Amino acid sequence: MKILVPVKRVLDYNVKPRVKADGTGVDLANVKMSMNPFDEIAVEEAIRLKEKGAASEIVAVSIGPAKAQETLRTALAMGADRAILVQTDDAVEPLAVAKILKAIADAEAPGLVILGKQAIDDDNNQTGQMLAALTGWAQGTFASKVDVEGDSVSVTREVDGGLETVKLKTPAVVTTDLRLNEPRYASLPNIMKAKSKPLETKSPTDYGVDTAPRVKVLKVAEPPVRQAGIKVADVDELVAKLKAMGVHS
Ligand code: AMP
Repeated sequence: MKILVPVKRVLDYNVKPRVKADGTGVDLANVKMSMNPFDEIAVEEAIRLKEKGAASEIVAVSIGPAKAQETLRTALAMGADRAILVQTDDAVEPLAVAKILKAIADAEAPGLVILGKQAIDDDNNQTGQMLAALTGWAQGTFASKVDVEGDSVSVTREVDGGLETVKLKTPAVVTTDLRLNEPRYASLPNIMKAKSKPLETKSPTDYGVDTAPRVKVLKVAEPPVRQAGIKVADVDELVAKLKAMGVHS
């Protein structure tokens, strides 16, 4: 079984985003970019399935600028076998990403597509669900456990107030939640090896997909600045202040 893993290049999760002065978006000039953390979990899960003998090949895909090659090389260094870069400098919305992934899924015929549950830059949480709709495949979102059993996959989902386990017939779409696994770091020898793994470059038009935006961003703003706190001398003073603020126990 082949596994397709879409990986997005996003602002590194340790970087504090700076909003552009004109409020049109986040300033990405000269800031550290990395693989979306949920996608690292997806790559890790695919590698573990391959190590268990449940998968034969892992194909990483990224839709983004030329620099998204670095993200793909990271996936290859972790253990993916080959990569496809669908190169574009446009901001690509989840629907267009899902359409491109559908075309790749048609060509590659994977048994599983493992995506992140959301990209931490836009927080859309849409692509996996849209891909499942476009392909007509079963979906198991917010996975905290994935087991492949013959031609089906059992996915434990993190739902409000507990866990839900579903059995999907493959091919299927799975999206990763935080507790699924802890991604490995690529070793230096594997980083070197990844440089010679195959990386194919395509464009959205190769897949007949129009990436023109459907959504217009009206405004991006910084969160309100946190007010400074005050120090109280003791519990009595704290209780008095809380009462004065109208906070009741
Ligand atoms: P989103 O729906 O944008 O929150 O993204 C959910 C998941 O879809 C991500 O974690 C990735 O696995 C995948 N994805 C979204 N955008 C891209 C992209 N440009 N390239 C590759 N994968 C993507």
